[in-house]
Amino acid sequence: MIFLFNEDLEYIIGSRACNRLTRQKHVDLSHRPLPLLFCKEVDGLWVEKISRFNAEVLRTREAVRFHDTILIEGEPLLHAHITISPMLDDSGQCQGTIMAVNDVSELVAAQRRAEEAAKSKSAFLANMSHEIRTPMNAIKGLSELLALTPLNLTQRNYVKNIVGSANSLIGIINDVLDFSKIDANRIELLPAPYSLHKLIAEICGVIALRAEEKGLALFLDIDPAIPARLIGDDARVKQVLVNMLSNAVKYTPAGSITFRIQGTRRDTFVDLDMSVEDTGVGIKDEDQHKLFSAFSRVDLLTNKRIQGTGLGLAISKALAEAMGGRISFASDYGKDSTFTLHLPQEVEDPAPLASLEEPERVRVLLLGGGARMQNAARMLEDLGAAYATFGESAIDLARLLGRAAIDLPPCGDPPLPYTHCVYTDAVGEREMSRLRTILEDCRFAALRSIINSMEEPGRRDTVLFNPLLVTELTKFLNRSGRRTSARSIASDTTVAPRPQFRDVSALVVDDNRINLMVCEKMLHLYGVAVTTASGGREALALACENKYDILFVDHMMPDIDGIEVTEDIRSHDGPNKRTPIVALTANVVNDMRSFYLQAGMDDFVGKPIDRNELTRVLKQWLPPEKIVQPMGTQKQIG
Ligand code: ADP
Repeated sequence: MIFLFNEDLEYIIGSRACNRLTRQKHVDLSHRPLPLLFCKEVDGLWVEKISRFNAEVLRTREAVRFHDTILIEGEPLLHAHITISPMLDDSGQCQGTIMAVNDVSELVAAQRRAEEAAKSKSAFLANMSHEIRTPMNAIKGLSELLALTPLNLTQRNYVKNIVGSANSLIGIINDVLDFSKIDANRIELLPAPYSLHKLIAEICGVIALRAEEKGLALFLDIDPAIPARLIGDDARVKQVLVNMLSNAVKYTPAGSITFRIQGTRRDTFVDLDMSVEDTGVGIKDEDQHKLFSAFSRVDLLTNKRIQGTGLGLAISKALAEAMGGRISFASDYGKDSTFTLHLPQEVEDPAPLASLEEPERVRVLLLGGGARMQNAARMLEDLGAAYATFGESAIDLARLLGRAAIDLPPCGDPPLPYTHCVYTDAVGEREMSRLRTILEDCRFAALRSIINSMEEPGRRDTVLFNPLLVTELTKFLNRSGRRTSARSIASDTTVAPRPQFRDVSALVVDDNRINLMVCEKMLHLYGVAVTTASGGREALALACENKYDILFVDHMMPDIDGIEVTEDIRSHDGPNKRTPIVALTANVVNDMRSFYLQAGMDDFVGKPIDRNELTRVLKQWLPPEKIVQPMGTQKQIG
């Protein structure tokens, strides 16, 4: 509808559609004052408002635009975009106004429908994920428990495959959920202080074994000068990096993967460049623009045996951007690819990730050759430590060590005796014992792959794991003096060890019988005595009578749900008024942590229960004096 008014705001002419508001087809409306133009069904307040706006435009000669709703008796609400502009002549004089009323009701209705569809899609996904997670908890938990029983090789292999498939299914559910959250603009970031070392170690814990199983070498090249403690959403940073590294493992049939982190300080921030370089299949130039679109997988012929959803990079890109960063990549088809996450992070503590206490005193002998030793050599250069390499091959070594007098290369300026020696599995135990007698005051560390080291318990030297972390190397080099007999560095790049507890009783509440059993058996592995309850009512009865050290309570239960159980326990002066309560839940869609905390609980564990997560919860909430340190092991790092 287009209306033209003169300088006295009298109607001059209008489009035919205006009849919808005037309803006077056969009457001459010209020179009718604006307030009297519209039919009586049109809301009088709106007519008043529109008259005021036209007068305003006439006075200021500035156009106005706004969205409005118009009530017309007997008709559905009219949604309109309204524009009122001044009508200027050649000399710039204002001759009147032009008012355009654009009916956008259908658009608004379509938008509402789309919003409702998005809402029900999210609700559907949340419910579906909940429904799938509950049985997945049983599958994953029971197979993990099964793996701990005596099994023959074939059975063990089956169980391993069940766990692997369960994990990949959970991965897919998580991806789909994340994607739907990003799609609905509901991605939540939780920035908090974190340790960069721990982040890298955890990432390697996920990736190292996969790379090794595929025969790929994984190298780390991490600038030791980057601040050790940063502020950011470490879980999301980890998610992006794990995705980039998993892709590198997936799309590299042979060769190596290098994970590189560099940092540039900028005031209270550090700009991190975290890149993953592989020697894999590469990406064709014409496919490169598709990589970050949802559900898009490229070069399907080459990659036909590789599983994927095509969601990983779309999610990573959205997460990187939400954190104020971006992802870039370069690739040579058939040769290599490099994906880089550029990410600014706030610095919590400027102390560097790794540094030597007395670099001038350290002299390192790198024994056995290969790319892994070259990688270690580069780290020593970064750390400012003197080193020498010796014995490029196993035969070489045997020959050199076989001689009566061994000429080890001099090391450093001034040359001093070796303080540390790092050797690979290329060096045999016979040569090593000979060397130990020659280098009396030297500390030894074996550089081992995760797979080998599992098969080789009881070594006398420190064990450093591949991929070698500059932080672990530094820890080893900062220990001086004679070696100890215990395996002194238990790297946290492997699965966290399971602590044992003494005199701990837990109450576990879940209406699902199998999940109840899984949780009970898992807690038994920690030496925790467990009482079970199959519903809220039974739980409350037990909690009234007995004191527990910790309660694990399912959220959704048919009789009394977990939230009500918590409220009841917290509001009565029973024996468990202050006992830590941990929610067990398959609902991981929304920001559930704050939800459970508000409900009076202390923590939550998602289903399927992750054993590292359970370890964390038990360590955090049970009194430290109830932890029994297993014999012969030292305090864990990290
Ligand atoms: P997915 O791996 O689940 O298919 P992504 O979104 O992570 O999904 O990756 C999208 C596509 O990008 C992959 O299907 C693959 O074709 C390609 N791609 C990703 N990373 C690499 C890589 N490192 N080397 C070669 N191709 C890659």
